[in-house]
Amino acid sequence: MPEIIFATGNRGKLREASEILGEGFVLSTPADAGITEDIPETGETLDENSLQKAMYIYERTGRDCFADDTGLEVDALGGAPGVYTARYAGPSKDFGRNMDKVLSELSALEKAAPEGVAVSRRARFRSVVTLILGGRAHRFEGVMEGTIARSKSGNGGFGYDPIFIPDEYPGLTAADITEDQKNEISHRGKALRAMAAFLNEIEV
Ligand code: IMP
Repeated sequence: MPEIIFATGNRGKLREASEILGEGFVLSTPADAGITEDIPETGETLDENSLQKAMYIYERTGRDCFADDTGLEVDALGGAPGVYTARYAGPSKDFGRNMDKVLSELSALEKAAPEGVAVSRRARFRSVVTLILGGRAHRFEGVMEGTIARSKSGNGGFGYDPIFIPDEYPGLTAADITEDQKNEISHRGKALRAMAAFLNEIEV
């Protein structure tokens, strides 16, 4: 059975990817291949980071592998936090502070806007997955469209989920819906399903 390394240390992502790829593939982690250090992510775009992480594993193992990189893009903030999503409020990667920063930046824009001018709360999560198969890189992308809530809601999910209202669930944040509901519409789910379709099509 084809074995692929997923360049992540996140157990939740590994479970999601295993479910999406199905029984025809065995997923392993960098740790399984003896890579225990943090994988560098120094690119300026999601594409660069995703490719950098996948290449890091490929160069050390010579094996088929893939990596993902995700950003939240808020239109009124010029696409920020974007590639800086994990560390928007500082290197501690504190989700609570990251969300507070987005909420307070949007309210500052609203306060500064002339009367009658609405500030858009449109945003999206974008995931880029890079698969290295037989030494060649393949790129897949998934997007989840939505809006930024006025305050946090919900106990599920992770990261920015409590302030993100997916278009498919008006009035609910990504932290209010179930994991299955989210995986069906999520950026990462879409990018991983595109990769799975490609792998099944070429019958690795
Ligand atoms: P990563 O590239 O998957 O590590 O994602 C970068 C950052 O984006 C994470 O640290 C989270 O803050 C955020 N993020 C990624 N995916 C999601 C999601 O599905 N919901 C909420 N936040 C996410």
